[in-house]
Amino acid sequence: MLAFLDYDGTMTTHECNEIVLQRFVGDAWRPLEAEAHADRMSHAAVFDRQIGLIRAPREEFLGALVTEAEPAPGLPAFLAELDARGGRPVIVSAGLREAIAAVWSRDKLPPVELHASELVGGGPQGGPPYRLAFSGVLGDCPRCGPRACKGAALRALRRPGEPVLVFGDGASDLCPAREADLTFARGHLAERCADEGLEWRPLADFATVWSDVDAWTARR
Ligand SMILES: [Mg+2]
Ligand SMILES: [Zn+2]
Repeated sequence: MLAFLDYDGTMTTHECNEIVLQRFVGDAWRPLEAEAHADRMSHAAVFDRQIGLIRAPREEFLGALVTEAEPAPGLPAFLAELDARGGRPVIVSAGLREAIAAVWSRDKLPPVELHASELVGGGPQGGPPYRLAFSGVLGDCPRCGPRACKGAALRALRRPGEPVLVFGDGASDLCPAREADLTFARGHLAERCADEGLEWRPLADFATVWSDVDAWTARR
């Protein structure tokens, strides 16, 4: 079994990127977010533009992302049970690899395969102006744009016959949700899964995931 996991707002209790953007750039990130929700701009282009608004030094920006991150309730136990069942967790995120890795080591979370973005700073000491270099596991898609689709990542990572659970909350998680066997969704992704009639469950926290999975497996 493959657990294909979004990071920000899915494995964390809050939307860390949004909180940190608000702190550093005020409301300037919000009109861009609306473009992504309405599918007028790709979520990848939007996130890259939002990151480009930040002028804070690199350590300050990355440090704020780590400080804000609180792992979702039940996450360590969920990952331990996945391991016990012979499954594997893979995080596929447009978020910043350095920040996610720092949260994992700070909180001593169980190991995960991580595919996330590099923060590219064009200024001195890797500082602003910033842009994102997305993980190479992302692929092309008319909806997400070139090399920005998590659905393509799912196709690349999935082994033949392997059941896939997708966990997400945002616009970028819709493409993998469309290919999942079962999706756990909150926020914007939950609305999109409901609209499209996908097989999905609300992701309250990770403590109830396995009972939902077992009930779903028993009905298949
Ligand atoms: Mg998210
Ligand atoms: Zn896509």
